Amino acid sequence: MNSLKERFLRYVQINTESDPNSENCPSTERQWTLANVLKKELLELGMDEVELDDNAYLTATLPSNTSNAIPPIGFISHYDTSPDFSGEDVKPRVIETYDGGDILLNAEKSIVLSPEYFPELLQYKGQTLIVTDGTTLLGADDKAGVAEIISAMEYLITHPEIPHGEIRIGFTPDEEIGRGAHLFDVPAFRAKWAYTVDGSQIGELEYENFNAAKAHIRTFGKSVHPGYAKDKMINAITVLREVLSGLPQEEVPEKTSGRQGFYHVHQINGSIEEASAQLIIRDHDKADFENRKARLQALVAEARTQYGTEIELDIADQYYNMKEKILPVFPIVAVAEEAMKAVGVPPIIKPIRGGTDGSQLSFMGLPCPNIFAGGHNFHGKYEYIPLQSMEKAVEVIVKICELTAKKPPETWRQKKS
Ligand SMILES: [Zn+2]
Repeated sequence: MNSLKERFLRYVQINTESDPNSENCPSTERQWTLANVLKKELLELGMDEVELDDNAYLTATLPSNTSNAIPPIGFISHYDTSPDFSGEDVKPRVIETYDGGDILLNAEKSIVLSPEYFPELLQYKGQTLIVTDGTTLLGADDKAGVAEIISAMEYLITHPEIPHGEIRIGFTPDEEIGRGAHLFDVPAFRAKWAYTVDGSQIGELEYENFNAAKAHIRTFGKSVHPGYAKDKMINAITVLREVLSGLPQEEVPEKTSGRQGFYHVHQINGSIEEASAQLIIRDHDKADFENRKARLQALVAEARTQYGTEIELDIADQYYNMKEKILPVFPIVAVAEEAMKAVGVPPIIKPIRGGTDGSQLSFMGLPCPNIFAGGHNFHGKYEYIPLQSMEKAVEVIVKICELTAKKPPETWRQKKS
């Protein structure tokens, strides 16, 4: 039988890096390799309805083992890894009984994973850590989630005395390029609600995320010889600077935290004739989010009048705060909270400063909070995961299934705001 650790180590060695420049789904052919491995494993485990569709979405069913009417619930994770850092030739290393000191990831390149920079390492002293060789990411995001969900299904199959309703599981490609939920067939998935197992440290439970939009500004100028430019030249760079300087300078990612929103200019190009900026807008509060977009529109309108020149502004919403879809069904969070407590994991409930596949799925009709998968330092060479956190994630998944079967969800704790 496959252990959780063995499963995880095997998955991370299969490169599944996704590619934002591809229009295809999956965005990279290489993702099929792991998708097929997972499909085969689910069949061997005895899961029902194992289906790998044309876009590499893999789903399967664990049938209910009681005659009670229990709503079908789901667990979802993504098997692609971030294109931000290499996922080629990952060589995971297992560190038994971490001593709390520096971990030399790569002697040749002097790459060290140190609690001096990453103090949260210290809470795992004495545990088993899985780290990289310093040249790739690890892929705990989110192959840990995949391994945990499969191990939890295996546990339920080998422990039929634990009652559970129908459990649906789903593994998606391309989450890291923002498309993991795009082709997810929610009606076919059938679950009443689901959990993405894609959070970071042990205990994380999330049901609030940003409202998100992206904006593209293009300003147009008029180039004239600088010596004869008086009252004639319009400098597109100046116009762009005028718009951007009107944004609140304290409301940027590097100066905000918690539920504070921001504007983030991440790219600027420019010449006299034409300049452009790309930015993202983020806010947990829906009204403040709308105000932020309106403020940018007003700044552009003012600059248009002031300089008498054309300015293009495209704003596109990207995703919304799932909170508004979760609050009406808050018991699904309460069940997860209770499951964590029952297996000795103190829940850490906090708003996400980002989005998840779950936020998109929630707006597609599948309410979907996020629970921890256990890893740290995603998308880079310092990524690591404690094995004990992974084991707890498996226990939490099993416990959620059990609690949902034992107590009708509507009797769980409600929350209004
Ligand atoms: Zn992830």
